Amino acid sequence: MKDDYTRYKRQIIIPEIGEEGQKKLSEAKVFVAGLGGLGSASAYYLTAAGVGYLKMVDRDIVEMTNLNRQILHRTEDIGMSKADSAKKKLNALNPSVQIETYRDEIRDDTVEGLVGDCSIIVDAMDNLNTRRILNRYSLKKGIPFIYGGVEKFNGMITTFIPGETPCFECIFSGIKEIEEVKGIIGPVPGVIGSLQAIEAIKIILGLDRLLKGRLLFFTGLDMAFKEIKIEKNPHCVVCLGRQ
Ligand SMILES: [Zn+2]
Repeated sequence: MKDDYTRYKRQIIIPEIGEEGQKKLSEAKVFVAGLGGLGSASAYYLTAAGVGYLKMVDRDIVEMTNLNRQILHRTEDIGMSKADSAKKKLNALNPSVQIETYRDEIRDDTVEGLVGDCSIIVDAMDNLNTRRILNRYSLKKGIPFIYGGVEKFNGMITTFIPGETPCFECIFSGIKEIEEVKGIIGPVPGVIGSLQAIEAIKIILGLDRLLKGRLLFFTGLDMAFKEIKIEKNPHCVVCLGRQ
């Protein structure tokens, strides 16, 4: 369609995308878990890029303390569910993307119904327990899980591909949740959420140079990126459970 061509022209002219790549994007189904700081960035860019179907879940309502970083939500949205607030903005941004948002909690008994037939999970959560649930589901279904985490001026990201790379548990087993309010400056989830959107777009396009087996750190105070190699843990209970 002519309108679509115009909307996506600046990405269609990229050789790695082209009209064929744009068609792949329009047929893709992506799940974004969480509509906070990370989800605000990734969902916004995935919608702008013309990913055909986006399903998003968040159990919370918009609060004043969210607004320094969760840029999908505005002052007028305080008290509204993040699901409804996000849907409103994303529909306005790109009406040709099918947006489904749910105010719900991701648990072992809800994850399957929520993720549905999406073929990529973008982790935009703020807690380990939900990430563990999503990780197990990613392995069970063999779908990529794009992890992101942020705190203060720092962020990190890696892409877990079931059967190919370590999983979340391989890297973060034994880590416990610290029950305290974490400080965070808004642009950091903006950076990491944007990187997650790039990874999702590359997976959809079939571009292989992903963050596989590499954990990328961003430190805003030093304005530096560094990465470490990550490997499968041979004793990982989640990976072993899959065999
Ligand atoms: Zn594992």
